[in-house]
Amino acid sequence: MNVPFLQLRPAEDDAAVREAISRVLDSGWLVLGPELEAFEREFAVATRATHAVGVGNGTDALALSLRALGIGPGDEVITTPLSAAYSALAVVMAGARPVFADIDPERFTLDPQATAAAVTSRTAAILPVHLYGQAADMDALAAVASRHHLALVEDCCQAHLATCNGRPVGSHGAAAAYSFYPTKNLGAFGDAGAITTSDEGLVTRLKRLRNGGQTGRYQHAELGVNSRLDELQAAVLRARLSFLPGWTGKRREAAGRYRRALAGNSAVRVPAEADSGHVYHLMVVRARARERLRQHLLERGIETLVHYPMPIPQQPAFAAFSPVACPAAAAACREVLSLPLHHRLDAGTIDLVAGTISAFGD
Ligand SMILES: *Cc1c(COP(=O)(O)O)cnc(C)c1O
Repeated sequence: MNVPFLQLRPAEDDAAVREAISRVLDSGWLVLGPELEAFEREFAVATRATHAVGVGNGTDALALSLRALGIGPGDEVITTPLSAAYSALAVVMAGARPVFADIDPERFTLDPQATAAAVTSRTAAILPVHLYGQAADMDALAAVASRHHLALVEDCCQAHLATCNGRPVGSHGAAAAYSFYPTKNLGAFGDAGAITTSDEGLVTRLKRLRNGGQTGRYQHAELGVNSRLDELQAAVLRARLSFLPGWTGKRREAAGRYRRALAGNSAVRVPAEADSGHVYHLMVVRARARERLRQHLLERGIETLVHYPMPIPQQPAFAAFSPVACPAAAAACREVLSLPLHHRLDAGTIDLVAGTISAFGD
C-alpha cells in the first residue's frame, strides 16, 4: 500500500509514550491508581469539562452515562442511524430502546426536526453523535431536549476537542462519552474511554458503576460492570494528550488541502464544513460511483474505507427495534467514502490522492 488509511505507530510522541509505559512498569500499580486520576484531571481540563471519569471503552462510557442518569428498561433514547453501531448498542446495554431519527444530509448528524418528531411519552434521552469530527446541531437539539425534559448524552467518540458554534462539545448535555480506541483522534494502545460531566453526583455514580457497583471493598451497592481504564492506558493517554491540539490542527490543515484540491471535482462531492470547530476524525466525501472509485484508488495503492455502509437500524442485530425509514441516512451509506487522513499525512500524499481521484473517469 502506497497510502495506507492510517498510521498508528508513535512518532514525535514516541519518547513520551515509552517514558509513560516504563513509569507504570516501575510503579507496579496497574488499575485505579495515580495515572488514571491524573488523566481524569488533565482530560477534563483539555475538554473544558468539570470532571472526567475513565472507563474501559467508549461504548461503556455511553451505556454507563445512561445508566447513571437513571435511564433503562421502559425508556426510549433517540439516536442517529448513521454512526458506529456501538452508539445504539450502548442504549440497548443500558436496557433502554434505541429509536432512530434521520440525519441532516449536509451535516451527517441527527436532524433536530426528525428528533422532535420521534419524541413519545417514553422518551428519556437524546443521544446525538458528533460524527466524523463535526458537532451535531447542538443548539437545536438542546432546545428539543429542554422542551420535552429529556436528558442529553453526547457521543464525542469522534470529536475530541471539537466545538459547536465555538462551544466545546460535551458541554451541552448531562454527560459526554469519549473513546480512545487506537484509531480515534486521541488513541490508547488498546481500548479505553471516558465520560465528562459537570454533575458531581453523576461522577460518584459512574465511579461506582465502572467498578462492579462497589461503594467500598467487597460492598456492592448496585449491579455495576467491570469497566476500568487501566494505568498503562491512562499513562499513554496522558503522554499523548499534550500532542492532541497540534495533531488536531494538522488534521484541519490536511482537510483544507483536500478541500482545495477536490473543489469542482466530478467524481466526488466534498460536503461543506458546517462548523469551523470540526476536528476531522475522518475526511468523508460523497461519490456516486463509490465502489468503482474505491477500486480505482486501491489499484493505485490508496486505501479508503466506508463509514458506514449500512444504517444501524438495518443491521440484523437491530431487527427487533422496528425502525422507521431513514432515507437520508440510507442515501449517505450508499455514497460516503473516507479518504486517508491522520495527523502525519503530508501535502504531497494529499495531492497524490486528490490527483488520483481527478484521474478517475466515470
Ligand atoms: C468508536 C466509537 C464508539 C465506540 O467506542 P469504543 O471505544 O470502540 O467502544 C461509539 N461511538 C462512536 C461514534 C465511535 O466512533
